[in-house]
Amino acid sequence: MRGAQFQERFRGKHQLQRDENGLEKCVACYLCAAACPANCICIEAADNTAEKRISSSERYAKVYNIDYNRCIFCGYCVEACPTDAITHGHGFELASLNATSLVMRKEDLLVPRTACPMRLRRTRMRQRFSPEPARGRRFARMKIREWVGLHLL
Ligand code: SF4
Ligand code: SF4
Repeated sequence: MRGAQFQERFRGKHQLQRDENGLEKCVACYLCAAACPANCICIEAADNTAEKRISSSERYAKVYNIDYNRCIFCGYCVEACPTDAITHGHGFELASLNATSLVMRKEDLLVPRTACPMRLRRTRMRQRFSPEPARGRRFARMKIREWVGLHLL
């Protein structure tokens, strides 16, 4: 819904977060599933390997499903998570006539790599200080405008 305003504490569709390196924060400890009073979280753990690292710990969640037919948005899973891997987003348009589409998979919940704040910041810094002349000029103009705004206006 366009124009909708949310309080920060609003509990919408869950999000599985990534760390500053883009790795998944979930370490498949099952604490969220144990805390869930509606028994709607289904996790399957797998081991990280040297060739394939998904999370920073020993294990990662190969499967992470939340059944929104059952979820009551109580937030207990978020409270229980030791790594802040699961949080509530602001997504609320979940209604569906098809119950199977309300079982969300890890792919539906995981934040994309580019949405990771540290990565975004790094990308922006790289773009700002890029040796590419056009970008460099744009950055210089922006800095001059900032300086003028601060000192002369
Ligand atoms: S918000 Fe509550 S009901 Fe929903 S998945 Fe988390 S613990 Fe379970
Ligand atoms: S989301 Fe958090 S509590 Fe749930 S399995 Fe992953 S690390 Fe554990």
